[in-house]
Amino acid sequence: MGKYPVLEVDLNKIRTNTEIVTNLCKDNGIEVAGIIKGFGGIVEAAKAMAEGGCTQMGSSRIEQLKSLKEANINVPLLLVRVPMFCELEEVVKYSEMCLVSERETLIKLNREAEKQNKKYGVIIMYDLGDLREGVFYRNELIELSKLVEYELKNLTLEGIGANLNCYGSVAPTFKNLTELSDAAEEIEKILQRKLHIISGGGTTTLPLMIKGGVPKKINHLRIGEGINNTQDLPLYWDTDIKGLDKDTFVLKAQIIEINEKPTYPIGELMVNAFGEYGHYEDRGIRKRALIGLGNQDVGDSSKLVPKDKNIIVLGASSDHTILDIHDSEIEYKLGDIVEFNVLYQAMLFTSLSQYITKKIIE
Ligand SMILES: *Cc1c(COP(=O)(O)O)cnc(C)c1O
Repeated sequence: MGKYPVLEVDLNKIRTNTEIVTNLCKDNGIEVAGIIKGFGGIVEAAKAMAEGGCTQMGSSRIEQLKSLKEANINVPLLLVRVPMFCELEEVVKYSEMCLVSERETLIKLNREAEKQNKKYGVIIMYDLGDLREGVFYRNELIELSKLVEYELKNLTLEGIGANLNCYGSVAPTFKNLTELSDAAEEIEKILQRKLHIISGGGTTTLPLMIKGGVPKKINHLRIGEGINNTQDLPLYWDTDIKGLDKDTFVLKAQIIEINEKPTYPIGELMVNAFGEYGHYEDRGIRKRALIGLGNQDVGDSSKLVPKDKNIIVLGASSDHTILDIHDSEIEYKLGDIVEFNVLYQAMLFTSLSQYITKKIIE
C-alpha cells in the first residue's frame, strides 16, 4: 500500500497548462516568467514549466532557485522578492536577475556582482498603489534607473515592473499599467535605449490581458497560480481559459474514522484548537469521516476542494480533517482514499509539508 497523505504532481498537465498560458501571452507580445514558490519549488514541476514555454523561472526564495541552478535548468532565474542584505551573495550566485526597490540594495548588489566578477540584472519595482514593494514616485524610479545605467557597472538595468493585488488588493487596470508603460517610455527616452522587460504583474494581470486591457508596451508577466491553480481563475478572477487542467496537483488522504454524529457540538463552547470561535450549524445526525491530515499540512482546510462534489469539508485541527460524507453516492469505508484539488494556500502548504509524500507523475 502506498503512503498517505500524498501530493501527486502531474508533469504532463503542468506542461500543457504552461503551453496554453504562454501561447496566449505570446499572442499579446508577453513573455512569461514561471513562478515556482506556490509549490515549494519542486524541481521536476519547475522543469515542466520551462519546457512548456516559460522563458524565465522565478521564486521569492533564493533556496528554490539554487535547487534549479543545481539541477542545470537552462532558463534565466529571477528572484521576485526584493532581496535581503544577508542573502546577496547567494542571490548573485544562483540567479540572473532580481526585483529591487531600494538604492542601497542596488549599491550592495553591484558590489557583490563585482566581487563575483559577474554582470547581474535588475528590474526596478514601481508601486502603482498596491502598497507592497516598489518605488512610490516616478522621479525616484528614474533616478534609480540612471544610477544603475551610468554608475553601477556590474548591474544591467533589465527593466521595470509592478506588483498588484498582493497587499492592497488593487486590481491591474489599463490605467495603472499605462502609468507603468509611460514611465518605461520616459526612462527609454532618457537612457536612449530600449528596456528589455516591462513586467506588468502576476496571474492577476491575466484576466485583463484576455480582455485586451494590457497596454502594448507591457511585455512580461510573472505567473505561477494561473498555470498551476487554474481552478482559482474562474473562482477568484472570473476568467476561464479553455483547455486548462485543474488536476496538476492532487492531494490524496486516507480515512481513519467513519461515524454518524450530531453536527452541533455538545457541551459549553470555547475556542477551538487555533484560538478561534467556531460556527456550527445544527444539521442533525450526519455521516462523517476523519482523514489523516490537518491544518498543519494544508494551512486552512477550507482551501481543499473534494473531487467528490458531495463531500463537505467541515473543518480541521492540526492533524485531523473532518468531512461530511452523508450525501455522497460513494459508500466510503475505513482505509479508503479521498482526493482533493488544492487552492493556492493548500498547494503552498502541502508541497512544503514534510509529512506529505510527493509523487511525481511523468
Ligand atoms: C508570487 C509573485 C508572483 C507570482 O504570483 P502568482 O499568483 O503565483 O502568479 C509575481 N510577482 C511577485 C513579485 C510575486 O511575489
